[in-house]
Amino acid sequence: MINIDHIIPLNIQSDNVTDVTCQGAYFDNVSGIWYTESDGLKGALSEYVYSMNSYNIMAPYYLVITSKMHCWNCHQSTRIHGVMFTRFIKKIQDGGEGWLPVRRNTFLFHINALPEEIMKDIKASNYYLDKSKTTGLRYWMNHCEICGERLGDYELFCVEDDAFHRMAVEKLLRANVRKVNRLFISTAGNPAEHAPKDVVRYLCDARFVMNGPAAP
Ligand SMILES: [Zn+2]
Repeated sequence: MINIDHIIPLNIQSDNVTDVTCQGAYFDNVSGIWYTESDGLKGALSEYVYSMNSYNIMAPYYLVITSKMHCWNCHQSTRIHGVMFTRFIKKIQDGGEGWLPVRRNTFLFHINALPEEIMKDIKASNYYLDKSKTTGLRYWMNHCEICGERLGDYELFCVEDDAFHRMAVEKLLRANVRKVNRLFISTAGNPAEHAPKDVVRYLCDARFVMNGPAAP
């Protein structure tokens, strides 16, 4: 737990950390995040900072998992993309101050905003900022490569077993898993404009289930 409300995450990948520590950078052991306090950003540390100043989740690196599912509109097979962390730190929401470090395989979804640096890495033609017709949420969304249907995150991560929700190990082995060694930061889980008080889920455990043997 970091008891400071405003921390500035640093994209430090180097093993030689003596210099940055001298400049006022701190390391969180649980999440693996390098950060500095808002009044500590000076000199050399500024080269590790992203051009985004509002965020509620960060990770020291991330995985982009590209899998396949059947579109629920045209029933054809399409690629879908998901962001996964093995460790991260999230802003404490309900009234508290500070940040909570977590070590657990976790998918991030309902991503509202990303810095340029990360957009370049996730680059996929059918994953882009869009607005859901049903919920009014505006976030980075998967779309069917064949018919363009919006494939909403709630279904992909919380409902449909065919997608990231309860993803089978067999499916994960066939998926493209890309690890990006770069600090990840984003704003996720913003409610829709017409329902600003709604709580929007944006994290779920990545549980890779083993399918039982096929029935005889
Ligand atoms: Zn489709």
